[in-house]
Amino acid sequence: MCIFCDIINKQIPSKVVYEDDDVIAILDIAQVTLGHTLVMPKKHVENILEVDEDTMGKVSKVVHHLAKQIVTKTEAVGCNILNNCGEVAGQTVNHLHFHIIPRYGEDDAISLRFYPSEELDLDEVLEKVK
Ligand code: 5GP
Ligand code: ZN
Repeated sequence: MCIFCDIINKQIPSKVVYEDDDVIAILDIAQVTLGHTLVMPKKHVENILEVDEDTMGKVSKVVHHLAKQIVTKTEAVGCNILNNCGEVAGQTVNHLHFHIIPRYGEDDAISLRFYPSEELDLDEVLEKVK
């Protein structure tokens, strides 16, 4: 059972911002800021590590298009595009989705902080990730 599949199949109502054969975008039920939108493939896929390239391409196009549309229409000054992959990263619904969160100022309802870890040798890091 997947709550987003139920939304896609219209078994659970949602506010649809955009829809085509492969992708749907809905308003997040808990609006972090006004216009907070979730973009997802209609095909059930758990996360970004599992999605195929074609589906990811289609979702990415919609994220790009809607980020511009939503920021313009809401008169926001920017946005965060967020994907939580895995429980450790805060994913609570295991159906791939991207958050588009319009930003209205530094003291609006979202705060993202990156805490530096101990200093790492970037050559060693590069070797690890390449
Ligand atoms: P995650 O934490 O997995 O990145 O984000 C899941 C998001 O789905 C949350 O922001 C949550 O508010 C939203 N959400 C959960 N259930 C529903 C629902 O039934 N309808 C809608 N529109 N959003 C939901
Ligand atoms: Zn699903």
